[in-house]
Amino acid sequence: MADLINTSELYPKIDPEILDSCIHCGLCLPACPTYLTDYNENHSPRGRIHLIKAWSQKRIEYSDSLSQSINTCLMCLGCQTACPSGVNYEAIIESAKVSLINYQNPFLRKLTGFVFKYILPNYLVLKFSYYLLKLWQFINGKKIFDLILYFLGKFKLENSKFYGFFNKLNELQLFLPDLSNYEPFNLEIHDCNPCTKPSAKMSDNVLICSRPQKLDKQYVFFTGCVMEVFYHNVNQSVVNVLAKNNIGVANNKQTCCGALALHNGQIDIARKLAAKNIAYLGSNPLGVIVTGSGCTAMLKHYENLFTPDDGEIYSKARAFSRNIQDSAQVLAKFDNLKLNLTNKIRVGYHAACHLAHAQNIHDEPVEFFKKLENNNKAYLQFIPIEEAEYCCGSAGIYNLMNTQTSLLVLERKMKFIKEAGLNYIVTSNPGCLLQLQTGCELFKVDVKVMHIYELLDTLIN
Ligand code: SF4
Ligand code: SF4
Repeated sequence: MADLINTSELYPKIDPEILDSCIHCGLCLPACPTYLTDYNENHSPRGRIHLIKAWSQKRIEYSDSLSQSINTCLMCLGCQTACPSGVNYEAIIESAKVSLINYQNPFLRKLTGFVFKYILPNYLVLKFSYYLLKLWQFINGKKIFDLILYFLGKFKLENSKFYGFFNKLNELQLFLPDLSNYEPFNLEIHDCNPCTKPSAKMSDNVLICSRPQKLDKQYVFFTGCVMEVFYHNVNQSVVNVLAKNNIGVANNKQTCCGALALHNGQIDIARKLAAKNIAYLGSNPLGVIVTGSGCTAMLKHYENLFTPDDGEIYSKARAFSRNIQDSAQVLAKFDNLKLNLTNKIRVGYHAACHLAHAQNIHDEPVEFFKKLENNNKAYLQFIPIEEAEYCCGSAGIYNLMNTQTSLLVLERKMKFIKEAGLNYIVTSNPGCLLQLQTGCELFKVDVKVMHIYELLDTLIN
C-alpha cells in the first residue's frame, strides 16, 4: 500500500507568474458557488489564491482552516471562466490539493487511494460492487442504518463516533441511483442506420461495426467506470443515437480515466492510469468519444500530467489529448432531427462544469437545443435556466466528502430549475445526473433528470 501515498511537496509548487496574475479584482466572486453559500472570502477564488500563495511561499504553515478553505473548493473552474485576467486557477488548486494529501488522515488517504487504484480501474471488481449495491437496495439497506441510528439514539450515543459513522453512511445513500433496471458492462453496439439490430456485444479489442464503410464516422467508445456502473443506460443511449445518425463506435481496452484520483490530490495514481489509457488507446487510428464530461475533461488533460522530462510519454499524452471528443461536441451533427412526440415538452440544460469550464464548451449544447426547438416548434420548448453554468455541488466525490456544502450549492441550483417550470433537465455528466436526481427528491422538484443523449434516444425513431 505504500505506493498509494503521494510523496509530493509539503508546500505547493506553483509558477510565481501564475500566482501573480491574480490582481484581486474580485470579479470571480459572484461566479463561485461556495462563496455564494456563506459570502466568506476564504471560500472564494480570490481568498483561496491568496492563502495558497502565502502557503507556497512558506509565509503560512498548514492548518485545519487552510485545509478547509482548499477542500471546500468544488474545482468547478467557474472562476477561471469569469476571470478577466486569465488566471490559471486550475493549476493553482491542483497543486494545493496534491500538497494537501500529505496532511490528510492516513486511514482516509489509504482508503481513497485503494478505491482509486484497485476498485475504479477494475471492471470485475466494479461489477461485483454493482451487485452488492443492488442487493443492498433490494433489501432496503437504508432501513438497517435507520434502525441502528434509532437504537444508538435511544442509548444517548448521538455524540459517539459510531453514531457519526453510521450517520455519514446514511447520508451517502442520498446519492445512490436506482440500480434495478440494467446490467453494466453489457453494451449492445449497433450497425449503422437503418440496421438497428445489435451486431455484437462489447468485448476487448474488437472493432465492432461490421459495415464501417457505410458509416459517416467511427470512434472508439470510452465507457468510463462509475459512468458504466451507475449509468449504463446512458452509455447505451449514446451508442444508439450515434448509430441512428450513421456514426459507429468500436471498443478498445481501456481503464478509469483517473479524474477522481487527481481531484483528490493522488496524482501518482492519476499518472499511472493515464499512462495505461495512452498505451491502450493511443495507437488506435480512430478518435475517442466519451459520454461523461468529467472523463472527457480528464482525458483531454493528460498532457498536463507529464512534462518534457518524462520523455516519450509526454509527447504521446499531447497527441492523445487532441484525439478526444466529448459526446456533446458532436451534437451539431443531429440538429435537424425530427422528434417523435405528441405533446409539447419543456427542456432545460444544466452545463456540467467539466464541459463548460474545463473544456470551454459553452455554446454547442445550447445552440443544438435552440435548433431542435426551431425544427420541432409544436413539440419542444427550450427554456434557459438561471445560472446554468454554475456547479450543482456534485464535483466528483465532493458531495460525499463535503455533504453539507454540496447540499447548499444544490439547493440554489434546484431553486432555479424549479422556477423554470421544466419537464426535463438535461446535462452531460454522470455526477451531475446523480446530484440533480438527489436534488429533485430532496427539494420536491418534479422534473425528470436525463443525460442529453438519453432524452434524444427516447425522442427519435
Ligand atoms: S482570480 Fe481573476 S477575477 Fe478573481 S480576483 Fe483574481 S484576477 Fe480577479
Ligand atoms: S473552482 Fe469553483 S468553487 Fe472553487 S473557487 Fe473556483 S468557482 Fe469557487
